Amino acid sequence: MKIGIFGGTFNPVHFGHLRAAEEAREKLSLDKVLFIPSGNPPLKTADLAEARHRLRMTQLAVQGNRAFEVLDMECIRPERSYTVDTLMSLQQIYAGDELYFMLGIDAFLDIPNWWMPDRLVSLANFILFSRPGQRFTDLASSPYLPVEAEALSGLERIGAGPFTARLKTGKEVVMLQVTALNISSTDIRRRVKSGASIKYLLPEQVESFIISNSLYTDDKKNN
Ligand code: ATP
Repeated sequence: MKIGIFGGTFNPVHFGHLRAAEEAREKLSLDKVLFIPSGNPPLKTADLAEARHRLRMTQLAVQGNRAFEVLDMECIRPERSYTVDTLMSLQQIYAGDELYFMLGIDAFLDIPNWWMPDRLVSLANFILFSRPGQRFTDLASSPYLPVEAEALSGLERIGAGPFTARLKTGKEVVMLQVTALNISSTDIRRRVKSGASIKYLLPEQVESFIISNSLYTDDKKNN
């Protein structure tokens, strides 16, 4: 099986995440996509909702898509979990399957700041999708991707097909143009805080969950 692994804080999950995952599933013939909300880091950032809430919202969001599943492996650990450890566990659980770690251009460029980045990029293939405000040509600055900006420029055209390259570790990296949805969790949290509508930025069930649990308001005990 070809399995996409989609890690994120999902604070909260929104249509930008869901649509990118769905287009990757369809265009790259993934058998399933595993959403893995991150746990609670010991030094919790101010408006990070509790892991159990982010987990629940992600579960609500994927209902109705049989190819999407949510794994709680990072959420149930009290200590900080690292992507390297998650990928190593998944390699064991899904031995014999092809694993693709999915992330946006912004997140891929940040990998050098993650725990054990060299090891991380040797553990899985990657799917990198477009995100408004990010350009594929920026990936030429990644220490892991030996591709010139010029070779990536064709990917900026709307409708450009996926482009496959190899990381220095030999792993495959598939770059994929997805429908541009300029949605971010930061913007959604800001809107909630100011009492603005978040309708049509994320699934209705997630919106209701945020409201009924008073998430992202200034009431810190729920966030
Ligand atoms: P925040 O605003 O809190 O930083 P976020 O909206 O970036 O959150 P994350 O949970 O941090 O969401 O993102 C998980 C992954 O999804 C990252 O790899 C990120 O690049 C990607 N992603 C997030 N939003 C979009 C979007 N609108 N389009 C494409 N990719 C996205």
